[in-house]
Amino acid sequence: MQLSTPLSAALRTTQPHLKALKEAGFTTVGELLTYYPRTHTDLSAVREVYDVVPDEVNTIAGTVMQLKTVRTRHGRVLITAKLIGKEESAIDLTWFHQTWVTRVLMSGDEIVVTGKVSQTPRGHHKMIVNQFEKISSEMLHAGRLVPVYRQRGKLISTKWLREKIYPLLPLADQLPDLLPTDIVERQDLPPLGSSVRAIHFPDSEEDYEHARSRLAFDELFLLQLGALQRKLDWQRGAAGSGTVIPTDKQLITEFTAILPFQFTQAQKVSSYEILADMAKDTPMNRLLEGDVGSGKTVVAALAIYLAIKSGGQAALLAPTEILAAQHFKNFLQVLHPLDVRVELLTGSTPAKAKKEISAKLKAGQLDLVVGTHALLQEHVQFQSLTLAVIDEQHRFGVEQRTLLKKDGTPHVLSMTATPIPRTLALTIFGDQDVSIIDELPPGRTPIITRIVPKKKRADSYHWIESEVAKGRQVFIVCPLVEESETLEVRSAKVEYKRLSEEVFPKLTVGLLHGKLKPRDKDAVMSDFSAGKIQVLVATTVIEVGIDVPNASIMLIEAADRFGLAQLHQLRGRVGRGEHQSYCFLFSESDEPEASERLAAMVEHTDGFKLAEIDLRLRGPGEVFGTRQSGIPDLKLARLTDYDLIKRSRDEAEKLLAADPEFKNHPVLAAKLAELAAEREKDD
Ligand code: ADP
Ligand code: MG
Repeated sequence: MQLSTPLSAALRTTQPHLKALKEAGFTTVGELLTYYPRTHTDLSAVREVYDVVPDEVNTIAGTVMQLKTVRTRHGRVLITAKLIGKEESAIDLTWFHQTWVTRVLMSGDEIVVTGKVSQTPRGHHKMIVNQFEKISSEMLHAGRLVPVYRQRGKLISTKWLREKIYPLLPLADQLPDLLPTDIVERQDLPPLGSSVRAIHFPDSEEDYEHARSRLAFDELFLLQLGALQRKLDWQRGAAGSGTVIPTDKQLITEFTAILPFQFTQAQKVSSYEILADMAKDTPMNRLLEGDVGSGKTVVAALAIYLAIKSGGQAALLAPTEILAAQHFKNFLQVLHPLDVRVELLTGSTPAKAKKEISAKLKAGQLDLVVGTHALLQEHVQFQSLTLAVIDEQHRFGVEQRTLLKKDGTPHVLSMTATPIPRTLALTIFGDQDVSIIDELPPGRTPIITRIVPKKKRADSYHWIESEVAKGRQVFIVCPLVEESETLEVRSAKVEYKRLSEEVFPKLTVGLLHGKLKPRDKDAVMSDFSAGKIQVLVATTVIEVGIDVPNASIMLIEAADRFGLAQLHQLRGRVGRGEHQSYCFLFSESDEPEASERLAAMVEHTDGFKLAEIDLRLRGPGEVFGTRQSGIPDLKLARLTDYDLIKRSRDEAEKLLAADPEFKNHPVLAAKLAELAAEREKDD
């Protein structure tokens, strides 16, 4: 048997199983062998029958006696037996709906069984059997760390997979090792074959971790090698196609002079990195990462200013109309005195105005356009776009590339508040360079965060009323727009009605959600900005970037339904002015994971720290969302494997530097090409 042997020839199984395998994407032995378990259950502790713990799942060993099929009065079929253990101990076993058991088990068989144990009033022990296995030297389902696979349909169960994969394990030594031997040695990694075996059936936790580190290293190494290669390719291809934007000291001074504050050190460093990129004739491809409120916008504004002053045009792309409008207002304020021509272009810009703006852009009569997806449309063309800024880049999919392609090769600056540590960002965002603003502007008072129990709800409302009386403003965020029948969470609309009529009848309460017409949204937002609305009931549309310094209270309903990153974003909407700000988390859940998350919000104000906790609690899929976010699908590596990420990146860089054409690494080159083809297909 070989890795390429078709499963139909290798497995002894039924036609329906083979069909199901094919549907799940498995055709060869090698594919099944590299289908790794999702997790393991520790069933290594086998108890004696006399030692069972009632009301828990137990794994015990003994001899089967009195095996029989029983039909209950209600027509149910049960299998029952006694399991006899040492020192004359015994326990009753019951299987529900599993008549096949009598075909594989006989009285006298020695087995290991796992299941929940309960105690009868008379002190007998009973077990409802989850699974069992005959005792042998090669235990697969108990008496060890047992692999748990993601089931593929009814037939391809985790138990079935265990039984079919186990005999394939010797073939793991035939798997092609893509990692150059010098790297394996330098990094002191275990061999590929034994690692694959231990990933399925490890002897211990350490054994598993050791094996995982090897396979995760491979995965991360390939990922980073691919990203670095793309970056190099792109740089080579694009070399000379970018516009050189000189770092003009005079202009920088001019710009900073009109700001009411000084750049933080981190803003200076990031600006320097960005301007240095723009001074080259290779287009910049840089990600500017910084926690909410760290002041990314003004750094982008400086870059935009320089781009414009050296004769080009700039575009700023924002994910929502509200945010685009806010940016427009700010840029107008900052850049107008500097003689910059700015316009706003969004989906709700009237057709006539759109046309005019497009015409001006094409004729070079506009310096900067701020807008939403509307900017990406075909008919929007520039005369000489030299800098594109993408705010909250994680909100955009691949569409953003269209903008870049149709108007030549501008420098691209992406911004995100998703706080990802640098090494991680380099891996995830791969071909981008990364700048990080890791400090907040000085003088901000930390926000006080509290988890509010149900019985304190009324008290909080009173307190809020008194704060509003002092002139403050309040956000109240609800998870849903409309009332939902299935989820008992407070919807924005219903909350709005209740709060405005019953709780705060004397205050002006506003409502903001994504289903409002853009014009109505803008009206609500500008009323809130102007202080005409005191309490704003909203959905997460306010999550992104809104800046109202007078708002000092953020109340979040059903806070347990949000991820930490999102809660942190929401909290970042307050604490932007001179007033002490507060964040109240209302929650009706008592799930431990939810309370752990909320507790983290109270304890930490640092977005990076929170992201790390979120990753640990919920995993990257939940934290960053779908593939759209660009987060790669990792089989065994985790985004919290910081050490492995760093080591694999170092090696990838070293290899590319020494052998940029992969002359000595043809196998790797082939694998990378294969992965690149898959990426293309996915896009
Ligand atoms: P974000 O990084 O979340 O996009 P913003 O760019 O919106 O943050 O900045 C948040 C607020 O901080 C804005 O009101 C901005 O004017 C202000 N700000 C930015 N940089 C500084 C600074 N160096 N000192 C003081 N305030 C600053
Ligand atoms: Mg922002």
